[in-house]
Amino acid sequence: MKKICLLATGGTIASESGANGLHPQVTAKHMLRMLPELKEFCCLEYQELMSLDSSNLLPEHWQRMAGAVAELRQQFDGFVISHGTDTMAYTASALYYILENIDRPVILTGAQIPIEDPRTDGKRNLLTAFRAAASERAGVYLAFDGRIIAGNRVKKLYTESFSAFLSINVKPAGYMSGSRISWTATEHQAKGVFQLHDTLDTKVFVLKLLPGMDPEILTALADRGYHAIIIEGYGSGGVPTADSPKNFLPAIEYAVKKGIISVCTTQCIYDGVHLDRYEVGVLAEKAGAISGGNLTIEALVAKLMVLLVETREREDIQKALLEE
Ligand code: ASP
Repeated sequence: MKKICLLATGGTIASESGANGLHPQVTAKHMLRMLPELKEFCCLEYQELMSLDSSNLLPEHWQRMAGAVAELRQQFDGFVISHGTDTMAYTASALYYILENIDRPVILTGAQIPIEDPRTDGKRNLLTAFRAAASERAGVYLAFDGRIIAGNRVKKLYTESFSAFLSINVKPAGYMSGSRISWTATEHQAKGVFQLHDTLDTKVFVLKLLPGMDPEILTALADRGYHAIIIEGYGSGGVPTADSPKNFLPAIEYAVKKGIISVCTTQCIYDGVHLDRYEVGVLAEKAGAISGGNLTIEALVAKLMVLLVETREREDIQKALLEE
């Protein structure tokens, strides 16, 4: 039987109603007791890492989760991380890049309805996560509503639906079918030696453009000491140019001259950035911006936080952002 460790961090799955609404209180031990069927296929242990609504999580918490996996790695065949859904896409992306080439399954999951509520989706999600963790497929994934999604492809798209998460720009990595996980061809397995990137450069900012926004905002951000600014532009990644009174190109040039990695991405969810298609993208690139490729905002943030520790070179970072 596989040895699986549950790392509990809080979220709705572990929440109960209090004076001010739902708040995480249920322990990892209690959650496991509610799923006796897990013992049929794995030996269980748990650690209570934190008990927080995921809105309260910081990059330090990602580092703690990654540190726990790295430290306990040899003792277990796989890990399940129970987590709030609201920022789980950020944590999944962060763990995907921090735990490079992890040689065990690390499966995040959570719920839209607390585990103690009879209507909960938490039991099914935990069961899927434990099945995936016991499946010998190495890598960081999220298990939710029967889907298994690669950690850096996760996005929360629904606040209420059980089907809260979708896999962005690649097919889901697998599905729960019956009592087994069926993995698809788009697998993300360890390709080299495990490396823990436990230092993060958190000086990353995301600027969502609005029609009419003053480019002075970008100049001000460039003066605030950020190392990377992700510009969430429009469509294929375009930004306002000299055809607009709110031309962003000089502000991009200013940021780039200061050595700030300026990444153009899109407010669209699917299909990624294509800066070479329109003048509004080509000119942004000529001003020194790089493309966010087809990564989600969450993955871009996490990948940059890991990359910037190793390099601040524009070309190296562009290359890395366009790789898987
Ligand atoms: N607010 C909760 C959290 O992210 C929502 C959830 O878990 O579904 O912790």
